[in-house]
Amino acid sequence: MQALKSILKRIDGKSYPAYKDLRGSFRFPFFFLYFDHIQGDPFASPSRIRLRVAQSFPKELYATRDRKVALADFLVRRIARAIGEVVRGRRGTGQSGLVYIDAPGQQILPRTAIAIGEDFVEARLSLGLPASGRKVLGREAEEMFFQELPSLARLLLAENVDLRAARKHTELVEDQEYLRSQLPKLGLAAFLAEGSILPRESGVSDRPLPGAVPLEVPRELAVSVELPNRGRIVGLGIPLGVTLIVGGGYHGKSTLLRALERGIYNHIAGDGREFVITDPKAVKIRAEDGRRVEKVDISPFINNLPFGKSTEQFSTEQASGSTSEAANIIEALECGAKVLLLDEDTSATNFMIRDSRMQELVVKEKEPITPFIDKVRQLYEEHQVSTVLVVGGCGDYFQVADTVLMMDEYRPKVATREAKAIAAKYPLARKPEGGTCFGAISERVPLPAGIDPTRGGKVKVKARRLDEIQFGSQEIDLSRIEQLVDPSQTRAIGALLAYASRKLVDGRRSIRQIAEEIEKLQQNGLDFLARSPGEHPGDYAAVRGLELAAALNRLRTLKVKE
Ligand code: ADP
Ligand code: MG
Repeated sequence: MQALKSILKRIDGKSYPAYKDLRGSFRFPFFFLYFDHIQGDPFASPSRIRLRVAQSFPKELYATRDRKVALADFLVRRIARAIGEVVRGRRGTGQSGLVYIDAPGQQILPRTAIAIGEDFVEARLSLGLPASGRKVLGREAEEMFFQELPSLARLLLAENVDLRAARKHTELVEDQEYLRSQLPKLGLAAFLAEGSILPRESGVSDRPLPGAVPLEVPRELAVSVELPNRGRIVGLGIPLGVTLIVGGGYHGKSTLLRALERGIYNHIAGDGREFVITDPKAVKIRAEDGRRVEKVDISPFINNLPFGKSTEQFSTEQASGSTSEAANIIEALECGAKVLLLDEDTSATNFMIRDSRMQELVVKEKEPITPFIDKVRQLYEEHQVSTVLVVGGCGDYFQVADTVLMMDEYRPKVATREAKAIAAKYPLARKPEGGTCFGAISERVPLPAGIDPTRGGKVKVKARRLDEIQFGSQEIDLSRIEQLVDPSQTRAIGALLAYASRKLVDGRRSIRQIAEEIEKLQQNGLDFLARSPGEHPGDYAAVRGLELAAALNRLRTLKVKE
């Protein structure tokens, strides 16, 4: 502490780079303050620091991986709130005076903002070292280091934490993880607890919609589960197989599907989706015209392209709606997807259906597309891949469904029997297409030459917001990857791709193997992505191999083995 004080005295009023003297660590009475990276000027991206205290939590709060993630999440939210309360904020030029921690949204994700070890707890922060113009403001820095940072560090000590609330948080995460792990045993693709709140406040807010109609559970699909902490809960079980969500426009179909998309993540208490739990390998599939495709076998869906273009190793710089949707499905299957989630709102019509009249006018030899309706059962029967599909417009799907759920003024009702009766009453005029089997899913092997994170000889990987990554000289567009929820995940994808390009992409491992290894590595956190002491490891959140592969598949330079 004294050393820090005297440095500040000495550099007060000097030009900004004098702050570099802070690099290193300083001992305070109950914590260590580390300066990992010092910004070059008040406008540069902020300096990176860590606050580390001795571990003082009851062991059971961080004994398992899930609990550790939950405790870290609890603490990062507490620190983020406290920053708003105890940090005065802007004081001087540029970023001067700002303190920042990578705070989560509604999801509880493994992230690097807080590290919990056997003998320490650490918060990773960014901080704008204060200046007036380019002159060090020693006094202001002193206030930040000796008043604000200690009040934040204090919150990492068990004695200052509401341990009951922390325990509830860890128990919630544990219950959510448990329920997700039980889905296969229950024969379910997803579970939605009675009373869940599915709609969100708005297109830009992930909070629950106030005054929403809580989810009712139709008797026929009610499933009751005993959770380790909360005890018994009842919910709507979406069975494996093919499930349709039908109903009039504006009756809540897409809202239900979106909740399922997010059910791969755990959610905080009060979110409304705490027990909306989906298979961890559920993937949202949509049309994505304009995307690039690299040697994907889309032949289950697309054949006989004009001029004999191959569809077993189909490449294009600019896919159409239907070919992009086909590629999205095959790529998801390639990486082990177990549940496909589709909404007619975001699907290509000609990918979903081809009716009898169209079959008569445009003969099969002239239509490359085999619509999804002819493949959805094969996917389940051959590959055990289930589908949940929102359709308001096409009753032909009744024929291929196991379960039909009708949304009626936001209330789900089971309509399987009625739908099947209607299907029997009006025999299908259309003919099935595309043969009787789906075929094998092959794995592609990416080549090192196609994945280059450098530009002008230097590694240049940077995430912009949620949906874009600059990767070397390329931009990766993730705007249609709808299950990404946190910009920290996007940052992680960028860093993980760069990591993969160094260590995993060797011309032998397949995309699936790479994705799986990346998932395994993240089991022990994402700190391995911090490559130098200057790189703040504090703003990453975990991602699935599926989203990592999705980014790789959208890298326009990707090359895979013939
Ligand atoms: P659909 O896909 O059936 O056309 P949406 O899911 O888009 O319908 O929902 C239409 C509107 O109703 C949205 O604004 C949504 O926020 C709202 N909504 C959905 N579910 C509920 C609910 N349970 N309570 C209140 N409003 C809801
Ligand atoms: Mg809709």
